Order: sequence, then C-alpha cells, then structure tokens
Amino acid sequence: MTKLIAGNWKMNGSLAANEVLLSALASGLPQAMSCEVAVCIPAPYFAQFQALALATPALALVALGSQDVSNQSAGAFTGEVSAAMLKDFGCRYAIVGHSERRQCHGETDALVAAKAQQALAVGITPIVCVGETLAEREAGQTTEVVKRQLAAVIHANGHCISEIVLAYEPVWAIGTGKTASPEEAQAVHAVLRAQLAAATEHAGRVKIIYGGSMNAANAATLLAQPDIDGGLIGGAALKAADFLSIVSAAS
Ligand code: PEP
Repeated sequence: MTKLIAGNWKMNGSLAANEVLLSALASGLPQAMSCEVAVCIPAPYFAQFQALALATPALALVALGSQDVSNQSAGAFTGEVSAAMLKDFGCRYAIVGHSERRQCHGETDALVAAKAQQALAVGITPIVCVGETLAEREAGQTTEVVKRQLAAVIHANGHCISEIVLAYEPVWAIGTGKTASPEEAQAVHAVLRAQLAAATEHAGRVKIIYGGSMNAANAATLLAQPDIDGGLIGGAALKAADFLSIVSAAS
C-alpha cells in the first residue's frame, strides 16, 4: 500500500515562516513520489497554501489537511469550522481526535466519531487518532483503550469506515522524544487492523499510520513494519530537512 506521511503543524506558523517551509518542501520533494504527502496546517493559512500550490507545481503534489473539523454542518456554532468550509479550500484530510484535543478540549469518543462522519460526508478523509496515555499503558489497558476509541468511529460510520485513515498515536510518545518501539507500534497496529477486519471486508486498504516522535532517525524502522502504513509527524514536520528525510524513508 502507498504510505502516507502527514505533517501536523499544530498551532505553529506565520505567513513568513510558512512560505519558507513550504518552498523548502517543494524544492526538496522527489519528482516522482512513491508515497503520499500531506500537511495539516492551521486553518487561517489555507488560502496561503492554495496560492503557493498554484504558483509552485511541486507543491501541488502535497495534500492539504486540517487539524480538526466541527461535528456540526452549519449554523450557530461560534468558532467552529465545518467540513464544507474545509472542502472549499481543497482540504483532502482532516485530523480528528488528536490527543491534544481529547485532553485539552474534552473531546469524547462520540464527538470524535461525529467529526469523522462530517468529514466523510463531504469527501474529506478523516485521520482518526487513537492512543493510550502512559498510565493506561502501564496499567495494561492499551488494547482496551484504542479499541474503545476506534469502536465509536466504526459504530457511527458503518461501512464508510474503510474510507478513513487511522493514526495510532500513543499519548506518551507525542512531543516527548519517546517513540514506541517498532514492535510495540506494530502490535497495536495489528490489533487495530483486526478490529477493522471485523467491521469491513476492505480493512486491508485502510492506512494505519503511526505518530509519536517519529523523526528522520527512527522513521525507516517504524515504516518497515507490516501494518505501519505511514506517519503522522508533529515536531519534525516543522523542519523541512527532517520532514523530507521521513518522506524519503517512506518512498
Ligand atoms: C502529533 O502531534 O501528532 C505528533 C505525532 O507529534 P510529535 O511528532 O511531535 O510527537
């Protein structure tokens, strides 16, 4: 399966910094890419991305993604951004259920599932994040937690579940420099693949990507695991050289 390398810029960037980063990506990407590349950037910069992609042919190979989407389609929901609005700007992906949103904004499994539903309804691929905290891992609850988080998304989305990208992001590995070992990550990916297989005959085509301190040094061994179909990259996505190394490890 073609691997997906998606950058999650989080709440970082500025017009000036984005231009430098995106130009460096455009000039460093291989001409014939054998993996998919996406950048999930802050929503205020979608128009800047669109304009740069029009002017820079190599950037047209990079898909645009958002970091969140509303669970509502329109109306009196101050501060929210709908899936249709993301679609207007050419978003191909929307991250939903990132652990920072689950933890800092109290997002529940049901809310995350509804957000995935909104994205799918307009043809945007939700990148659904699941993952356990350190306390949950130490209590032996990893499988139970990620299965519960995925079950809510399966329940709300039925057969459309084959259209998602699933991201396994152990919370203890995000932004900490600690990475799940390739074997630890593969074990959880295999559990998630099996859960998908019970829900859809197309489980084999669902990309299950890994996120959590993936970097230029550890990407190749993580990406070599049979059920690791790409990476969701935070910190290393803000440095063109690091992100490009991960892209080449996936190619
Ligand atoms: C993330 O925010 O999704 C992430 C994986 O961050 P980092 O790569 O910095 O751990």
